This record gives sequence, structure tokens and C-alpha cells, in this order.
Amino acid sequence: MSTIFAKIIAKEIPADIVYEDDLVLAFRDIAPQAPVHILVIPKKEIPTANDVTEADELTLGRMFTVAAKIAKENNIDESGYRLMVNCNEDGGQEVFHLHMHILGGRKLGPMLSKQG
Ligand code: 5GP
Repeated sequence: MSTIFAKIIAKEIPADIVYEDDLVLAFRDIAPQAPVHILVIPKKEIPTANDVTEADELTLGRMFTVAAKIAKENNIDESGYRLMVNCNEDGGQEVFHLHMHILGGRKLGPMLSKQG
């Protein structure tokens, strides 16, 4: 089942795209939770982290090299940043098209909230 991210890949809805190649697309999150909040997604529709296969390893590796490039371009490579992938309900996943969050530009605090 396609998501809003498939529409962004197809350029059917606008997004602030910061990087694109044959395998991945990166764009600014519509509701940023840090000064830099960019999503890196595979162009292939992979719903969750549970659905990755060996055939996706090149794409998944590309997501990391692109994240490093974007971090440098946004001057957060030295100060630091967080790469995050949420999976399913307990992980807080809202859009069921695999995506890596790049978050930085401020101190992000503890990795998890203390509640629960
Ligand atoms: P998740 O909670 O699934 O890990 O993260 C989904 C992210 O996608 C959220 O941070 C949300 O703000 C972002 N998002 C949802 N819809 C859109 C959209 O239409 N455009 C953009 N740029 N980001 C979106």
C-alpha cells in the first residue's frame, strides 16, 4: 500500500528535497523536531525495517553514505547528530515507508524518553 512518501518520490506532492539519486531521496521533515530534521528514504517501497532483504543492502548502505553527506552539508557532522529508524507501533512509526531520520543542530538529550 503506497504512502505519502511514494507521492513525494513521484513528485505528485511537494517536498523540500535536499538529495536524490537512483536509489534514495532525502527531504526536510514537514514537522521538524530539531533545527536539522531530514528524512532519507529508499525509492523502493519498503514498509518497515522488518521488510528489508539482502537485495536491499546496497540501498540501505546508500542511506548511510547520503546521511553522512547531508550531515556535513548542514554543518552538524562535527557537533553531532542522531540517525533514527522507527519500526511499527511501539517504535512510533507513522509512515509505513522505511525512512531514516537525521536529527541535529541542538543537543538532542537522552536517546529515549523516561516515560513508560
Ligand atoms: P515516523 O514517525 O514514521 O518515524 O516519522 C514520519 C515522519 O514523516 C514524521 O517526522 C513526519 O513529520 C514526517 N512527515 C509525514 N508526512 C510528511 C509529508 O507529507 N512531508 C514531509 N516532508 N514529512 C512528512
